Amino acid sequence: MSIACQLSFVRSTLPEDVTLVAVSKTHPVEAIREAYDAGHRVFGESRPQELREKYEALPQDIEWHMIGHLQTNKIKYIAPFVSLIHSVDSARLAEAIQREATKCGRTIEILLEIHVADEETKSGWEIGELMRYVGTAPFARMPDVCVRGVMGIATNTDDGEVIRRDFTELKRCFDLLQPYFGARFNVLSMGMSHDYPFAVECGSNMVRVGSLIFGERDYAK
Ligand SMILES: *Cc1c(COP(=O)(O)O)cnc(C)c1O
Repeated sequence: MSIACQLSFVRSTLPEDVTLVAVSKTHPVEAIREAYDAGHRVFGESRPQELREKYEALPQDIEWHMIGHLQTNKIKYIAPFVSLIHSVDSARLAEAIQREATKCGRTIEILLEIHVADEETKSGWEIGELMRYVGTAPFARMPDVCVRGVMGIATNTDDGEVIRRDFTELKRCFDLLQPYFGARFNVLSMGMSHDYPFAVECGSNMVRVGSLIFGERDYAK
């Protein structure tokens, strides 16, 4: 199946108000170009330098999302143009993004990544810790960062009940945080190739789908 076919298949399974982020990490510029030519404009990457290179090689009307773990010293590669950073998992990172945003003279939109999966290795805030931080002064002093919502990853399992439990918890966290931020806080990013239908059922309005569109990733390349 071609990328264009896979893309339109995935799109056809999603309600209209759900944003599809096509996760193109590790795939070449030509693959992204194919999706672009089929009309797609929103792409997700997980490595800052790779994201920067693809941004420079491809049309300017692409909306680039950073979805992977981000180190503070790499923010500079993406700060001038990135549309949304999904993976903000610490106060230190949020405050570093604020500094880079000021340097670039733009507002950077972010999501707060929340940890709900059973795996300890997955990053993200514990909700209690995040609720405490959101009430503090440093958080209130981020004029160039716009918090648009919440992102999360479910436990990697075939057990639909566990997946639903994780997505339901993320939705609960979104609802808890929403009053702090107001109307612009309206993005709930959850769901990947193998679990996005569950995520949509649980209230996701942004899914991050990679392998189902572009095929399996070859990290050895
Ligand atoms: C790679 C990745 C995805 C896409 O995963 P697929 O299983 O290929 O759909 C989604 N979200 C994050 C955070 C990722 O790192």
